[in-house]
Amino acid sequence: MTITPQSPTEPQAGPYGKRAQDNLWMHFTRHSTYGESAQVPVIVRGEGAYIWDEQGRRYLDGLSGLFVVQAGHGRRELAQAAARQAEELAFFPLWSYAHPRAVELAERIAHLAPGDLNRVFFTTGGGEAVETAWKVAKQYFKLIGKPLKHKVISRSVAYHGTTHGALSITGIPAAKEAFEPLVPGAFKTANTNFYRAPEHGDDLERFGQWAADQIAIAIENEGPDTVAAVFLEPVQNSGGCFPPPPGYFQRVREICDRYDVLLVSDEVICAFGRLGHAFGAQRYGFQPDIITCAKGMTSGYSPIGAMIASDRIMEPFLQGTNTFAHGYTFGGHPVSAAVALANLDIFDREQLNQNVLDNEAGFRATLEKLLDLPIVGDVRGDGYFYGIELVKDKNTRETFTGDESERLLRGFLSRALFEAGLYCRADDRGDPVVQLAPPLICDQSHFDEIEQILRGVLQEAWQVL
Ligand code: PLP
Repeated sequence: MTITPQSPTEPQAGPYGKRAQDNLWMHFTRHSTYGESAQVPVIVRGEGAYIWDEQGRRYLDGLSGLFVVQAGHGRRELAQAAARQAEELAFFPLWSYAHPRAVELAERIAHLAPGDLNRVFFTTGGGEAVETAWKVAKQYFKLIGKPLKHKVISRSVAYHGTTHGALSITGIPAAKEAFEPLVPGAFKTANTNFYRAPEHGDDLERFGQWAADQIAIAIENEGPDTVAAVFLEPVQNSGGCFPPPPGYFQRVREICDRYDVLLVSDEVICAFGRLGHAFGAQRYGFQPDIITCAKGMTSGYSPIGAMIASDRIMEPFLQGTNTFAHGYTFGGHPVSAAVALANLDIFDREQLNQNVLDNEAGFRATLEKLLDLPIVGDVRGDGYFYGIELVKDKNTRETFTGDESERLLRGFLSRALFEAGLYCRADDRGDPVVQLAPPLICDQSHFDEIEQILRGVLQEAWQVL
């Protein structure tokens, strides 16, 4: 299993593509793939669901940047909200002080969040939110007299961020091995990849109960007195979109209650409309103790993240001299908070969540047309969040070897899709998948465009193989 970096594009004459190779250290990028013959793609502009590169070529943004740009590109009112706030108060920290936008945003998020998740700790992104959640869980149990509870359980192939704590929770060995040893106490259990669980036949619900029970087994194996939290995404992204089987989260909730383990819903991708609701937990009807979120909160017009905790978790931190000794200079930055508020106004005004609910069946049906191709094994997801798993043999579900995957994803697919006008992601952190998460403003015309481009390129990929 390898981490799929962005693929190089054909030689281009843009001024930035070449300069990008000199001083810019790109993220999750195999730099050797760029050089004279292949330059870094440089995106210079966006409008609605489309982006343009420095050669003026247009692409459909099939991934909302990186699961971020919910409201679409080019929203002047978000830029203006940022400018207004920077003029009024560009910066102040939340370290024993507050500023109006953080207060307003915390109120608004508490109102949107399920149940009694009323306490919002701002960060600058998703990994920091995950990191914060683990630290809160550890200290919470120390404060209530269960100091041994510090371990965490998460799922195989799941991605939760790159800081040492969040990376320890991440279940992708290839993302971790260069940085070992990581934080001790992070254990992995089964995910909800039904496509790769043939022993469960067609019984999705039974599979869900089995997968949830694996969490109970992991807690038992580690010792319930030592386990603080379980980190799960509502729909697991890495591996190619694993939605929860019916009843899965209800069973997980029971298990967490039984062992007094906190249920953390990592919604860095799934919050803010990706699944047609403010939070993914609402879609699947479960109550987490903590939600972590980021990305879509501002539609990417400024960075911010948050850890949202229930009243029960906050309670001991309100007593006496107790303090959560944790923070980030830029956490809850006034400009980002102002942009988030303006972004949530757009959500309300344009009913973006409802747009997802109204159109998701069309998105699914359009992508499912691709199942007639021999290379498409599975189409799965919910809302505006889908993975298309590619296979060598549809009948046996045989996947590609490491070499084939390298040739298919890195050598061909990412580049070919981009050249055909679709920005999305070909990924082999689990089995090879194409991931799609378009802006929430998209409609059937965008889905058709995505399907047409994928169809052509996947047919070609089959020939290449
Ligand atoms: N958690 C999940 C589920 C994510 O998908 C991501 C990023 O994609 C993160 C955490 C890390 O977020 P960030 O890159 O903002 O640190």
